[in-house]
Amino acid sequence: MSDLISIDEARRRVLQAVTPLGAEDVPLDLALGRVLAENVTSGIDVPPFDSSGMDGYALIAGPEAELDVIGEARAGHPAAEAVRPGAAIQISTGAPVPEGADAVVPVERTTAVKRAEGPSRVRVPETEPGANIRRAADDISIGAVVLREGAVLGPAELGVAASVGRPTLRCARRPRVFVLITGDELTPPGEPLKPGGIYGSNGFALAAQVERAGGALAGRGTVPDAPEGTRSAIGEALEAADVVIVSGGVSVGPHDHVKDALRDLGVDEHFWGVRLRPGKPAWFGTRDGTLAFGLPGNPVSAMVTFQLFARPALAALQGAAPDATRATAVLAHPIARNPRRDEAVRVRLRHSDEGLVAETTGAQGSHMLTSMLGADGLALIDHGEGELQAGERVEVELL
Ligand code: AMP
Ligand code: MG
Repeated sequence: MSDLISIDEARRRVLQAVTPLGAEDVPLDLALGRVLAENVTSGIDVPPFDSSGMDGYALIAGPEAELDVIGEARAGHPAAEAVRPGAAIQISTGAPVPEGADAVVPVERTTAVKRAEGPSRVRVPETEPGANIRRAADDISIGAVVLREGAVLGPAELGVAASVGRPTLRCARRPRVFVLITGDELTPPGEPLKPGGIYGSNGFALAAQVERAGGALAGRGTVPDAPEGTRSAIGEALEAADVVIVSGGVSVGPHDHVKDALRDLGVDEHFWGVRLRPGKPAWFGTRDGTLAFGLPGNPVSAMVTFQLFARPALAALQGAAPDATRATAVLAHPIARNPRRDEAVRVRLRHSDEGLVAETTGAQGSHMLTSMLGADGLALIDHGEGELQAGERVEVELL
């Protein structure tokens, strides 16, 4: 691990190793968070016809008048009649504008005329042509591309897809991810702690990060600190998944067996060691198309290196933009630089007149997982001497 590489270089090596996965059709109601693998073109105008924007009366625009009400147009039920001079058709919001009409007057601006017999009549004010009519194709024209390949499908994207009549969307297959945690000390929550034991948190945090990043958990397991068990567990995971994530056992201790196991299994090393705090011992390699990440065991290091290196890979495997949103923020208080390593400082962000202000979430030890609570981003502090002053601007990777 003598030659530490930069965060950017590590990320570049990861992305260079990614070949996007295939695609599959996904029903809209299962597509939230998926990545679109096609351009979606509308086969219709939206709205498909001129419709009323108000409840009221459809009529021929003109001066104030008293009109016969000769029919009704409701949403989903076009009027049978056409509007002619001297007549109006009662209309609901969303109903097709009847033939002959060129304006709608809202019901609040009309008065019903009391009559003993004959068709009901209504008094309407002066009306401009086009008033309260939503034109066909106001929102989307036939042939328009409404969603582009690579888009992450959120509520609005799903709504737009439905509005052009699509029941399914072509989406990138979700990467299958196997999460392995290593360590003889790890105890599952719910069981009593034995001497020297701790509760394992990485399996849960990493599996949740995988899910957030669009991955599908292919399996998870706990691996003892022994060469043979480590090799067999990683071997099975490599067979079952597109991406294998191992936490712990990747450093230089005598009981760290992950790197040797990965090499024995034919995984080519692309890097080991990043000029990053927390997360220096991060390891990355590939076997055929399968990606393998050896993340440090310290819980914050595991989450940070997942965010910086594994999350972009999961995005790129799905054909989505790999870079998380970056913002800049001014520091609320001084931060000491690390002389040798770039630092990913967990920060809370708040808005102010000068834009975003970043304040740390508290003590930043790589074993202090509560520093991830409430973190909106990772402030990336370049290595160097001295400290950054309050008010200095830094780059923040948003979580
Ligand atoms: P390692 O990278 O295996 O040397 O582990 C570094 C530190 O992280 C040690 O203190 C481990 O006990 C701790 N650690 C490793 N895996 C986990 C885990 N899954 N949950 C919580 N702590 C862990
Ligand atoms: Mg360990």
